[in-house]
Amino acid sequence: MTACGICPRTAPDGQHLCLVHAGELRGWLAELPYQARLLREEFLAPVGRPAQGRLGGTGRAEAPLPVDLRVLVLLAPGRYDPLPGSDDDGQPPITAVLGAWAGHIAYHYPAAGRDPHGTARTQPCEQARPRRGETVTGWCEWLHGYLPFALTLPLAAGLHEAIGDLIHRVRALTHTTPRKHPLTAPCPKCDTFALARTDAQWDITCGECGHTLEPEAYKQHVAAVLRAHQPATA
Ligand SMILES: [Zn+2]
Ligand SMILES: [Zn+2]
Repeated sequence: MTACGICPRTAPDGQHLCLVHAGELRGWLAELPYQARLLREEFLAPVGRPAQGRLGGTGRAEAPLPVDLRVLVLLAPGRYDPLPGSDDDGQPPITAVLGAWAGHIAYHYPAAGRDPHGTARTQPCEQARPRRGETVTGWCEWLHGYLPFALTLPLAAGLHEAIGDLIHRVRALTHTTPRKHPLTAPCPKCDTFALARTDAQWDITCGECGHTLEPEAYKQHVAAVLRAHQPATA
């Protein structure tokens, strides 16, 4: 058993985040592409297309909406070095943060290959290559796919912090936070009433122990709980 890099809970064997924090990170990676899309739609509407409800119906030529600089920075391409002590200003673009962390994780990932002489060698991956390109969605998919591996690295807590910073910066601009809907049945693992469904996330998660359930499994769980509490028929 190892300790979670963030809280006093224990992490599963060989991992560096407890199930609650690993689940939170997974949720953020699913949320980020959606938030980035909101940012783009809300703040970067093409000039000339009236943004509904904002410009009014006066009919005169309007200057384009002033674009929030923070949005331009977040959506810009750019470089970012996640190592402490680097000279970034704490406001790196989204894709730069995601790409830097993917590169960091890829470097630890043992890639099996053959050298020019045909000898099999295992060495660090040189680069992370997201299948859907170096976009917010592409990087989030990549990080999501490699998350089981990333959780085995001590850098997992730093990754959690970096993605958390991003999501909070973006939410502050879009004023959109996925709502949590508490559920009525107790968690099948820890028995507390902390199960909740979060908007735009498939799994149901326990906020206490981090246990996750698919919606269908939750339904069966509820049925079992009800059966257990039904008075025995004579
Ligand atoms: Zn934790
Ligand atoms: Zn639980």
